[in-house]
Amino acid sequence: MAIERTFCIIKPDAVEKKTTGAILAKIEAAGFTIRALKYVHMSRETAEGFYAIHKARPFFGELCEFMTRSPVVIAVLEKESAVAAWRTLMGATDPAKAEPDTIRKLFGASVGENATHGSDSLENAKIEIAYFFAGSKVAPSA
Ligand code: GDP
Repeated sequence: MAIERTFCIIKPDAVEKKTTGAILAKIEAAGFTIRALKYVHMSRETAEGFYAIHKARPFFGELCEFMTRSPVVIAVLEKESAVAAWRTLMGATDPAKAEPDTIRKLFGASVGENATHGSDSLENAKIEIAYFFAGSKVAPSA
């Protein structure tokens, strides 16, 4: 198994509810190292670009509306097999179907407002990190 980096968004619903700290604490308790962290209010253009893969889905407009309604916290997480580990810690897309003690079960409200985003592959993690952190210094591994 290899050390990987994945991309995380703490979505507007979770930031609004002031659960950012609790979510970051769970991330660190699970053994991830936070290599970059930023507070961002996405523009419509940024959200539409980020979710371009979902453009044809019926919820695309609703998703972009949600992701731009207030700020998010974005992070680069590092750990062995980070991509899969972060998706396991987040839980299923629909919080009602998520395993107990996962972030979406604990902090998500609905299939749309589900507290966090996580990259679904190593390839997409690299693309998503570059999308939001291009030009920023992401800390090298210790
Ligand atoms: P994820 O990889 O678990 O985040 O799930 P997807 O890639 O399938 O969907 C991306 C995001 O779109 C989800 O995290 C939700 O925020 C949103 N989404 C997915 N399905 C729905 C839906 O049926 N309705 C709405 N409003 N949003 C959805």
